[in-house]
Amino acid sequence: MNIVIVGGGAAGLTAAIFAAGQGHTVTVLEQNEKPGKKLLATGNGRCNLTNVDQKKECYRSSRPEKAARILEQFPVSSVISFFTELGIYTKNRDGWIYPNSGQASAVLAVLLMEAQHRKVKMKTRETVTAITRETDGSYLVHTRGWKYPADRVIVTTGSPASEIAGSSADGLQFADELGIRSIPFAPALCPLKCSGAEFQKWSGVRADGRVTLFLDGVPVVSESGELQLTSYGISGIPVFQVSRYAVRALEEGALVEAELDFFPDMEEDTFAALLNHRMMSCTYKTQEELLIGLLPDKLIPLALRNGRELDVIAHAVKHVRLKVKDSAGFERAQVSSGGVDLAEVSDQLESLRYPGLYFAGEVLDVDGACGGYNLHWAWVTGAIAGFSAAKEEEE
Ligand SMILES: Cc1cc2nc3c(=O)[nH]c(=O)nc-3n(C[C@H](O)[C@H](O)[C@H](O)COP(=O)(O)OP(=O)(O)OC[C@H]3O[C@@H](n4cnc5c(N)ncnc54)[C@H](O)[C@@H]3O)c2cc1C
Repeated sequence: MNIVIVGGGAAGLTAAIFAAGQGHTVTVLEQNEKPGKKLLATGNGRCNLTNVDQKKECYRSSRPEKAARILEQFPVSSVISFFTELGIYTKNRDGWIYPNSGQASAVLAVLLMEAQHRKVKMKTRETVTAITRETDGSYLVHTRGWKYPADRVIVTTGSPASEIAGSSADGLQFADELGIRSIPFAPALCPLKCSGAEFQKWSGVRADGRVTLFLDGVPVVSESGELQLTSYGISGIPVFQVSRYAVRALEEGALVEAELDFFPDMEEDTFAALLNHRMMSCTYKTQEELLIGLLPDKLIPLALRNGRELDVIAHAVKHVRLKVKDSAGFERAQVSSGGVDLAEVSDQLESLRYPGLYFAGEVLDVDGACGGYNLHWAWVTGAIAGFSAAKEEEE
């Protein structure tokens, strides 16, 4: 049986290994000159490949129950065993799993070695332009210069997130042409463009804090960690974590605000009392001087923006409200929300309308939180699609 995989990224390479393990002819078509480019950039080049703490809320989808059912089929222990067998010794950083070598290139290398060992054909510089179905139920995968006949096709084209070459929305175009429903891609895990502060003044600051997202005035989600303040708005892992909700709400026309708290470990009145204590013990200090050592210098004018009374300062530090105007775009996003609707595929990721056509990885309508969840989704769905696509012929 001929199995053609469209896209040689995390999900595509995993699918190829699982499909080829069952003795079929497996061909990966990759438009870049090399497979796995995005994988090499993951985790700042260190590849946070999964997370031992698997909670439902770490995966966002318009069909969360279905996403959970798919994930259950290949638990995190199986993902870690898969990589251990390929040669990756993993290390655990507070549940975030990395290769011990600290190199994403090692993860890509072992996947490619295994694919080669299993005789997967890797065709690079092959951009797939269309997938069509023949009258006998087989498929033709069209590239710019060739047509690849296939009994089974697995689409693993990822999403348009990031500036990395190869990032594309082509998978949704193929789905659309076949009448398969999808949710348009939108940037997720990305910085947010805001108004409501003098961003030029605070640009470059990195400070621990909490961001709370307000939609039409109602707080919906909060995340803590290192906030990064930029010339156009806000960034950093906590902002990434809330960004997909902000972007989707903006699309729906909601009023989207982000409130920053630069002293999240203390209630406002306790913080005001702390300021008072500092003033009493150093009566010679001005309000500006009082804040030195508590906040980064560039944030001090922000703390004094509403007045110099201590309770006013405490409120200003803990409630910096910004209007979110936009995402910083696909180029600065790590992943996309949206994708092929999970209602269009079986739990084995086969199209319900087109037997023999599978989807896996980020092209599906699931986006994970920061922490290894997006690659986890890619490995799990790649494994399920590869295994299932190869198995069917035996029946
Ligand atoms: C900077 C950055 C850091 C990240 N860090 C992490 C991390 O540490 N942990 C984590 O879990 N996730 C991380 N992610 C997210 C993660 O990389 C993706 O979710 C994951 O790579 C998705 O896997 P995929 O196989 O679905 O898509 P991809 O890995 O994007 O692979 C898709 C492949 O398909 C190819 N392709 C697309 N269209 C066509 C076409 N028409 N014809 C032929 N080939 C095509 C592309 O060239 C690409 O090689 C990060 C993302 C970025 C951008």
